[in-house]
Amino acid sequence: MQSFSETAVYGTEGDDPERSLLQAARRGFAKTCPACGKGALFNGFLKVRPNCERCGEELHHHRADDLPAYLNILVVGHVVLGAMMVLMTWEFFGMWTTMFITMAVSVIAAGVLMQPLKGMVVGTQWALRMHGFGGHDD
Ligand SMILES: [Zn+2]
Repeated sequence: MQSFSETAVYGTEGDDPERSLLQAARRGFAKTCPACGKGALFNGFLKVRPNCERCGEELHHHRADDLPAYLNILVVGHVVLGAMMVLMTWEFFGMWTTMFITMAVSVIAAGVLMQPLKGMVVGTQWALRMHGFGGHDD
């Protein structure tokens, strides 16, 4: 029977090699497999491949859920809101032009960032051996 300290901390079980959190998050952000960094991570826009096409690493264990969307809102919301406040304070454009620009930038930025942020979350979960990435059941 394993003690609490052996099972509670991810990344300390068994003889598996150490996984770099930063490297896996970067590889995921680049939309590549967190294990090898070469195979594609996604099958579609947000559909993660069940296995890496290069190294065969199982990728279906991820549970990204809503975290990529929350991170997207956090990043895009802060950047666009700050830019909108600057535009409105200094009155570069009229109100409707400012509204149109900030809404268009919000939609485009959110669309561009969604896949890298999901990849980063999947890479982080892989590095931390969460949800079956460490060879154990969730
Ligand atoms: Zn791979």
